[in-house]
Amino acid sequence: MNREMALSLGELVLKGKNRHRFLEQLMRQIKRNLRGIDHGKIYHNMGKVYVEVVSDNEEKLINRLKHVFGIVYIAPTIKVETNPEQIEEAVKEIVKQTLEKNPEYKTFKAITSRGDKKFPLNSMEISAKIGGIVLKNFDVKVDVHNPDFNVYCDLKKDTYIYVEKIKAHGGLPSGTNGRGLLLLSGGIDSPVAGFLMAKRGVKVDCLHFHSYPFTSERAEEKVKKLAEDIANFSDELTFYSVNILPVQKEINKNCPEEEMTIISRRFMMRIADKIARENNYDCIITGENLGQVASQTINGLTVTNDITNKLVFRPLIGMDKVDIIEIAKEIDTYETSILPFEDCCTVFLPKHPNLKPTIEGIEESEEPLDSEKLVEEAMEKMSVSKIGGYDEEEK
Ligand code: ATP
Ligand code: MG
Repeated sequence: MNREMALSLGELVLKGKNRHRFLEQLMRQIKRNLRGIDHGKIYHNMGKVYVEVVSDNEEKLINRLKHVFGIVYIAPTIKVETNPEQIEEAVKEIVKQTLEKNPEYKTFKAITSRGDKKFPLNSMEISAKIGGIVLKNFDVKVDVHNPDFNVYCDLKKDTYIYVEKIKAHGGLPSGTNGRGLLLLSGGIDSPVAGFLMAKRGVKVDCLHFHSYPFTSERAEEKVKKLAEDIANFSDELTFYSVNILPVQKEINKNCPEEEMTIISRRFMMRIADKIARENNYDCIITGENLGQVASQTINGLTVTNDITNKLVFRPLIGMDKVDIIEIAKEIDTYETSILPFEDCCTVFLPKHPNLKPTIEGIEESEEPLDSEKLVEEAMEKMSVSKIGGYDEEEK
């Protein structure tokens, strides 16, 4: 009896002509995410991917596999040859383990999927046999409507028996939907925005603005940690870090106080746009959310959006904060995001921000500034580094 993780692929199998490319990318991501931890062969068989378990590290394997987009469920299985004796042994073993872990379980149902059409029994008959084995050996009853647990049997060339189906994130494998430049702050929202786009197959790189020495190095470390969390889901990523303080000082000196934030935002977008054009990013991603703060009113967003022709994704735009926080917790960025380090935007925060800026009005306010020069100077001092996620050896 061998242990293997069976990975269900959901949407991936529906992708028609692209299927092959998606699968290849998925296999690559799985291999990448399992780097540095013990595992056996990884292979594809009839719509599922299997990973051989070779040591006592199932929990770790599951955690890493949960970070691979394209996987819908992870099932820890027992794999045996497709013959009645071996299947019986596997069923007994898996039910024994299940009841040890969950002594309160009283009812079950057997569910069979028969990929090997040559096998002499049909799915119903196999399920009936499995049901019989469980009833004979354990103190549980059948309940086909609302069972405490299911005993699954995937019968192919080999047979896989399992009870648990652990939910993963689904989505599409990283890199199957272009490249995006995420404006990553240290807040709760932007990491979630990056996660959501990565989940749709976008390979995400990060751009962060700091106001050193007004903001500390530790604040930047915090953002790098968030980028690493995204890299764990996505791929090795490029981290662009830009000091926006000289720009902020110029705005502060020359522009109306109540427009400080919105004009800073426009400069962030100018720099993002330039990096995106120079490096062929397909889109820009932000954590903006309608109405959350003054700069994120429809007027505010219109004025920021006007800077770039790139497609800007704002995947959080219509979400409530509680729902964003829920995702942040689920993907483990929340605890990092709430660490109390200063953000560059709080350095020159206006007391009464302009809630209804217009493009013309803001352009007028920006007239004293040499925008191009400010952008260029900021980018000259930009630092670029790589953040590896699971590409890096286990720490
Ligand atoms: P977040 O939680 O992502 O910081 P927020 O609710 O604090 O978002 P804002 O501070 O108004 O909202 O920022 C809106 C968006 O602008 C962010 O989600 C992010 O994409 C981008 N942004 C803001 N500050 C920075 C920064 N210092 N570096 C990079 N991007 C930033
Ligand atoms: Mg913020």
